[in-house]
Amino acid sequence: MTAALAWLEPLRCSIPEIDGKAWDDLEVISDVLARRVSTAPPSGDPARAQWLLDLRRDLACDDRQDPPAPGGLVRQALAQFCAGTYDLDLRDVTGAGHGAMILADAAATVRDTWRTRLSRGDLVGIAATERHGGSRIQEITTQARSDSDGRWHISGEKCWVSRIVESAGFVVFFRDPDDRITAAVIDAAAHGLARETLKPSGLGGWSWGVLRLHDVSIDPATDLLGPAGGGMGVFRRHFARFRPLVTATALGTAAGVHTFVAEALAARRKVGVLPRVRDNALITLGRTHAQIVAALLAAITTIRLAASDHPHADLFARVGKAAGVDTAHRAVTDLAPLLGAYGFQQSSPVAKARADLTGMLYADGVHDSLYRSGGTTLLRAPYGLPT
Ligand SMILES: Cc1cc2nc3c(=O)[nH]c(=O)nc-3n(C[C@H](O)[C@H](O)[C@H](O)COP(=O)(O)OP(=O)(O)OC[C@H]3O[C@@H](n4cnc5c(N)ncnc54)[C@H](O)[C@@H]3O)c2cc1C
Repeated sequence: MTAALAWLEPLRCSIPEIDGKAWDDLEVISDVLARRVSTAPPSGDPARAQWLLDLRRDLACDDRQDPPAPGGLVRQALAQFCAGTYDLDLRDVTGAGHGAMILADAAATVRDTWRTRLSRGDLVGIAATERHGGSRIQEITTQARSDSDGRWHISGEKCWVSRIVESAGFVVFFRDPDDRITAAVIDAAAHGLARETLKPSGLGGWSWGVLRLHDVSIDPATDLLGPAGGGMGVFRRHFARFRPLVTATALGTAAGVHTFVAEALAARRKVGVLPRVRDNALITLGRTHAQIVAALLAAITTIRLAASDHPHADLFARVGKAAGVDTAHRAVTDLAPLLGAYGFQQSSPVAKARADLTGMLYADGVHDSLYRSGGTTLLRAPYGLPT
């Protein structure tokens, strides 16, 4: 049994969505990942992103449902947890990812085209953040102007965009000619798109950088996601589903580190390098295990709320992403010293997991901002204090 399944097996009674067949599917995916990961180019090797894309293409199958059934989203979260136990770079090897926005909100013909592309493993990036700050998406300045033929021409700059080279298309957030925030899908080969890559200090599996738009032409009749002016709705609905998936992946990475550390300590004790495992190590192993499991179950609950369009799904997704990724990050920070300097080598999966999880504190929402907006929601009915 893989490490991922060893973590998930005791949770099966709490997650009815992983019935017999779904569990068998998870076993298959976990085994495939175990086999493929052993042939991965190392982190930092330029061939790694192509290897990830190839893995995504090979795994692409009929799991991209529109809209995903409640059970489908839970299974997606668990597949991402499995992937995360190997490496956070594997966060996009299954599922529609940001392409889910197209499946949920595009016009029928565009949706069908992208459903085919996604089922072939194409990757979709999201371009929302601008220089003034990603936590203030309402203030974006990327602007569309309309021409006499009714087409729109978009200009502006998006920064910190992940999957900048590998994406086959981008969901771009901009202001429509009436100044309302709107979303559209733009093919990565579109005329007027320029990309600049930057070097991140973690999460280096996929490329990362700046996307510039110079008069990029779109047809508002076909290329918009949702109605003109409906960009914030697209963003919120998507992240209510996407954030718990991200959280489950990050927790998978923490679980993978936990297993690695526990096995290393057990092996050291077995061969006599350690006469006994000290209490501080035992306490850390016990505490982080409980924290990872609790946060994973919370992420699964959030997924269920999102899948059923529950009114609090967005709140749970915001604070849950921040709390779940914080849990994963702290667990790895606490577990890493138990390996000593051995785990500090750049080649160590534990050192890589730490750096990657640091990136997750920003990606898909910086945490103080997510907690803060959660607090604002909690002051309103029905969560507010009785007056
Ligand atoms: C690895 C990685 C991948 C990413 N991938 C993508 C991607 O694919 N697509 C994309 O669009 N973006 C992406 N991002 C950007 C990410 O969404 C943003 O980093 C995040 O939304 C926070 O925005 P920011 O970094 O601009 O920080 P800011 O919004 O500038 O926030 C920085 C700090 O300032 C605080 N702050 C905000 N307003 C105020 C104020 N008025 N007073 C005082 N403090 C304030 C915030 O709370 C926060 O603590 C990625 C980022 C990373 C690190």
